[in-house]
Amino acid sequence: MNAQPVKVPFLDLKAHHAPIRDEVLRAIERVMDTNAFAGGPFVEAFEKDWAAYCGSRHAIGVGSGTDALWLSLLALGVGPGDEVITVPASFMATAEAVSFCGARPVFVDIDPVTYTMDPARLERAITPRTRAIVPVHLFGQVADMDPILDIARRHGIPVVEDACQAHGATYKGRRAGTFGVAGCFSFYPGKNLGAFGEAGAVVTDDAELASRIRCLRDHGQARKYHHDHIGWNARMDGIQGAVLQIKLRRLDAANEARRAHARRYASLLAGLEDVVLPVEAPERTHVYHVYAVRVPKRDEVLNRLNRRGIACGIHYPVPIHRQKAYECLGLGEGSFPVAEQCAREFLSLPMYPELRPDQVELVARELRACLAELRSETHACAV
Ligand SMILES: *Cc1c(COP(=O)(O)O)cnc(C)c1O
Repeated sequence: MNAQPVKVPFLDLKAHHAPIRDEVLRAIERVMDTNAFAGGPFVEAFEKDWAAYCGSRHAIGVGSGTDALWLSLLALGVGPGDEVITVPASFMATAEAVSFCGARPVFVDIDPVTYTMDPARLERAITPRTRAIVPVHLFGQVADMDPILDIARRHGIPVVEDACQAHGATYKGRRAGTFGVAGCFSFYPGKNLGAFGEAGAVVTDDAELASRIRCLRDHGQARKYHHDHIGWNARMDGIQGAVLQIKLRRLDAANEARRAHARRYASLLAGLEDVVLPVEAPERTHVYHVYAVRVPKRDEVLNRLNRRGIACGIHYPVPIHRQKAYECLGLGEGSFPVAEQCAREFLSLPMYPELRPDQVELVARELRACLAELRSETHACAV
């Protein structure tokens, strides 16, 4: 079959931005007219709104989600010789932030239903060198925080949440990012709340930690040109602050739209034996940054869907402990079997607020068709 043109894109940022185009352009003009390009009043205004939205006392705008993770760990004193526990099923940045503090990432496998840190495996990974625990709210669902916080508290280890995919997600009525001592967010354009470039934030209730992160993001300055610490340039741009403040007002509606698409996918794909659908765990609201199903022969399914005009993704094809960059850790195949199997089977279907119901139906229909084709081909070859 010849490849068909894209009928359902993986993401549609143009459609996402169309209704706010004029409002955003006016806000960017205000940034230009006031020369508030790096940090400044637009970032401060967004920080206030973001802290209030999350239900946190402080928010610190930074350059990216990677910065948010890195500076949070640095501010907690993580350094050479330390270990930080996280999961292998995440974007590389989670572990990179640990390595950029000079510390070593230690992995705990994920739960096979929620794809987040398996609390039952956490305690065994703790050593006298453990300085932080970083659960990842993968795909937009908050990790099982109660047992994680309980273990962390017993060992006196701070928890830093990687909430880079979980803007507005809740666990027992509270929002992602507010469970640990710090919550880290990315506003990369494709995230549920996305900037017009790179941006991120840390939320925390701890005033001292907030001021350390504020200081670190701005070259360790307490006052202009008076440097108490060695920091970095990790400030948020003024334009990003202005844009994010506008886009934040639509986050809840956008998350609701994603949740409606997820329900539709779930009902259309129900009963397919060879597909594992995402599960929303009790007392959590999943915000479906990614709608990942698990299928056998994933690469073949993905190719066939692409040829039928359905754009799909893989988040992520290689678990972090199997990345070439982390060869030095010596963690072979079989170290984290759940994360490894998921990496082989995960297939991300199109998921964004502007997706139309007929597009969701088309994706589901084409996925069913691809799986049926593969099943009949397998049977035809059986002897
Ligand atoms: C996007 C993401 C990051 C990194 O955020 P950037 O803004 O791209 O630096 C970290 N962790 C997870 C889980 C992410 O999805």
